[in-house]
Amino acid sequence: MHAINLETENVQTYVNHLYEMVKVRNPSEVELHQAVKEVFNSLVPVLVKNPLYIKQRVLDRIVEPERFITFRVPWVDDEGVVQVNRGYRVQYNSALGPYKGGLRFHPSVNASIIKFLGFEQVFKNALTGQFIGGGKGGSDFDPKGKSDMEIMRFCQSFMTELSKHIGPDKDVPAGDIGVGAKEIGYLFGQYKKLKGVYEAGVLTGKAIDSGGSLGRMEATGYGLVYFVEEMLREKGLSFENSNVVISGSGNVSIYAMEKAIQLGATVIACSDSSGYVYDPSGINLDTVKRLKEVENKRIKEYVISHPEAVYQPNYKGIWNVPCDIALPCATQNELDIKSANQLIKNGVKAIGEGANMPTTIEAMDEFQANSVLFAPAKAANAGGVAVSSLEMAQNSSRVFWTQEEVDVKLRDIMKNIYKKSMDASQEYGYPGNLVIGANIVGFVRVADTMIAQGVI
Ligand code: NDP
Repeated sequence: MHAINLETENVQTYVNHLYEMVKVRNPSEVELHQAVKEVFNSLVPVLVKNPLYIKQRVLDRIVEPERFITFRVPWVDDEGVVQVNRGYRVQYNSALGPYKGGLRFHPSVNASIIKFLGFEQVFKNALTGQFIGGGKGGSDFDPKGKSDMEIMRFCQSFMTELSKHIGPDKDVPAGDIGVGAKEIGYLFGQYKKLKGVYEAGVLTGKAIDSGGSLGRMEATGYGLVYFVEEMLREKGLSFENSNVVISGSGNVSIYAMEKAIQLGATVIACSDSSGYVYDPSGINLDTVKRLKEVENKRIKEYVISHPEAVYQPNYKGIWNVPCDIALPCATQNELDIKSANQLIKNGVKAIGEGANMPTTIEAMDEFQANSVLFAPAKAANAGGVAVSSLEMAQNSSRVFWTQEEVDVKLRDIMKNIYKKSMDASQEYGYPGNLVIGANIVGFVRVADTMIAQGVI
């Protein structure tokens, strides 16, 4: 890339050029391109104000992962047949601490998905104010329809390779789609056996008796609702008496539903990758927990015990349900421009991203153009990784906090992220734009630390 001359080329030209370079270097990795485009566009005001970031090539460096690892994961299924999957770990940025970010097991996982998630994780982790770098990993392994023993054998094989690259002060994975406490347990067991030491801090999201933290399971969903609550409060709104639609019915979704209901909302729809249920009298969370956390069933079975509810076999249709607040908590790009227009037409007041990058850039722009309050994922779903960091702190100091202690800390962290993002949006001339505010706060903390650590 040619050297930039700020006298003749403006910052936007530099950013556009760098974005084109990212596309050339990572061809056909469309999710990565999308995540980078959103962040780069938000950073123009901060680069204009601080040309040192350009001189030091911070953006050029931050977008290139420190390390990207792929590996073979062979395992034997219940029929005795050898299966082969691909494993990934991206160690994106370690300026602020050990790499930290979840593992996703889903057939859609590829290099682009892992890199986009890792890139976003860098800024999200910085936003929490904790001392953690950014990473992400996973596999195209599909846990659906696999027996417990198959999942265990897969996790053991995956960890046999991953263990060479992680450690409590090096890289600390956690869960994500398809990776919950069960998978973390199998992964931790294999790591312990391979290393011959009890390093509880190597993974977070563990079961309590393996060194897990109370409140970690609930943290992302609760944190999302705490963040959105702050955003609503500023406009004199609240969850109380609101109708809320929450996509997904996994970890993030279930605990977002729980907290929204506790705050007086009625959650009227949720979904899985097959379809959605609409229950005008309010989704019964005990039924969803039983179906998803205990029986491993599809959400369509909800209507068996709740005949007043309606099931539609089209998961994107959930955004046609009129609501006050919409919380996309399933997966990337689940909320597109068509769905955004429908939500706006139906009078939605606020969107809170529980999933990573669930809203397309066009949909996000549409919400903002129509004055719909918008809580971006990097800020709004940072509660999970924040409590993971608290789990690491408890592991290394061998203390154990109560659920209430963790919840108070989580709430403070989410309030603080909201305030910092709002303040930055004002300081840089985009008052109330939390997408720009959050990206800037995350970037500045990482960028300043990278500069302090020299060109490495
Ligand atoms: P889970 O695996 O627990 O749940 C995922 C939910 O989303 C399930 O209901 C699943 O349906 C649905 N889903 C998954 N893939 C798709 C798809 N391609 N299309 C439609 N629906 C889909 O994952 P989590 O709840 O942990 O994660 C959800 C989102 O939140 C992800 O974007 C993740 O990166 C993000 N996140 C998670 C954090 C955490 O702490 N767990 C922290 C921060 C962000 P089905 O059961 O049919 O697959």
